[in-house]
Amino acid sequence: MERCPACRARLGEEETCPRCGCDLGLALQAERQAQRLAAAAIHALAAGDAAQATRHARAALSLKDDAWGRALAGFTASFESRGEEGQTRQAPAWPFLARIWSAS
Ligand SMILES: [Zn+2]
Repeated sequence: MERCPACRARLGEEETCPRCGCDLGLALQAERQAQRLAAAAIHALAAGDAAQATRHARAALSLKDDAWGRALAGFTASFESRGEEGQTRQAPAWPFLARIWSAS
């Protein structure tokens, strides 16, 4: 989390906003859980389980809605809809990177 959601102050590693005193503990926990779920989505996709990857990516997106999360959820879902029985197929990295760049 780069900025306080309450006052937009720039943040470091602290769990309390130095400007307004807002407790950021729960928000930071949600952000860390979203990162873990996004990593799990990538691992599931690499293991060939697009359905599980999509579930993880959507769970991550429900905790933190940002360009990266939307790109990951869209990417995993595209494998799920194209693949046979959730198995991934080899795909070039370029469309995935293009989505991230265009979303940011
Ligand atoms: Zn603040």
